[in-house]
Amino acid sequence: MKTVVSGIRPTGKLHLGNYFGAVLSFLEMQENYQSYFFIADIHSLTTHPTPENLHGNVKQVLAEYLAMGLDPDKCTLFVQSDVPQISELYTYMNMNAYLGELERSASFKDKVKNQRNNVNAGLLTYPVLMAVDILIHKADFVPVGKDQEQHLEMTRTYAKRFNNMYGSECFPLPDAYSQTGKLVKVPGLTNQGKMSKSGGEGDAIFFDDEDNLTHKKIMRAVTDSGPEKPNQEKPEAIQNLFDIMKLVSDDSTVKHFDDLYNACEIRYGDFKKQLSADVLKFVTPIRERIREIKSDDKYLASVAHTGAEKARESAEKTLKEVREIIGFRRFY
Ligand code: AMP
Repeated sequence: MKTVVSGIRPTGKLHLGNYFGAVLSFLEMQENYQSYFFIADIHSLTTHPTPENLHGNVKQVLAEYLAMGLDPDKCTLFVQSDVPQISELYTYMNMNAYLGELERSASFKDKVKNQRNNVNAGLLTYPVLMAVDILIHKADFVPVGKDQEQHLEMTRTYAKRFNNMYGSECFPLPDAYSQTGKLVKVPGLTNQGKMSKSGGEGDAIFFDDEDNLTHKKIMRAVTDSGPEKPNQEKPEAIQNLFDIMKLVSDDSTVKHFDDLYNACEIRYGDFKKQLSADVLKFVTPIRERIREIKSDDKYLASVAHTGAEKARESAEKTLKEVREIIGFRRFY
């Protein structure tokens, strides 16, 4: 069976965009691949979180991914820092990563521009750690977004460089996992492109929010004075609400409001009430499950422990081979 590896940023609460843009593909992968999903807590140190925030966010995403259907019996779900082999391989791989290529990485250049007061070495070697996350499990595939294609290319470069340097075939060169058509870009409620945590107050629909907050956000979403001509094209703000509705409502409901819009008879208040009811129908059971899981420390501990053991076993196997290849051969 082919192996796939993917990281999860410990950013805390997940929203509808994360679900339809990432979690769904994880659910598909765990059925068809040997899948390693890790919470990238070492990566997140580049932004200097407080210990409480770091731990709280790791716990939150762990509980959320489980609540959304990641199954520890089908995949290996682990916390990156639970696998010390990753840090060890990172040390070795750093010796074969060159300053010039690291400085040319688009994400590094972006960070230099946008967080001038915290350009740390971890940011510079971020692509090396990312490569290690993938190579340590000898992944065949990695799901990558458009902004991460360069990182996958760097991973392939490091794998090739290592293999050539030592005349070995230690690392397979991973390919991009082609996402199925199911993945969509979810628009935000405040009409600023895609739904995002940083999209401002009211933009994102979080699974772990209370029902009345979600309802309020939807009812406050900006609309206009209504269509003026039959069958006119919808302005972005309206189209966005329809796009969200398509994800959570029945086809007949979407058609009902689409027909009303096209006949210039839509009442946005009713439309948003229906959208809110359907969003909550989708989100509420998952939120209840998130809270159940979050309060079950024993379950979380057992998931993290099992995941760590499985990930360490796979990582140690690769690392043993790497140590031997490099020439770290024990005298005892
Ligand atoms: P983030 O925490 O924002 O980095 O997102 C984590 C994952 O969710 C990434 O794979 C993103 O591509 C995906 N994602 C985030 N926001 C959206 C969105 N509005 N629509 C689709 N996918 C998204």
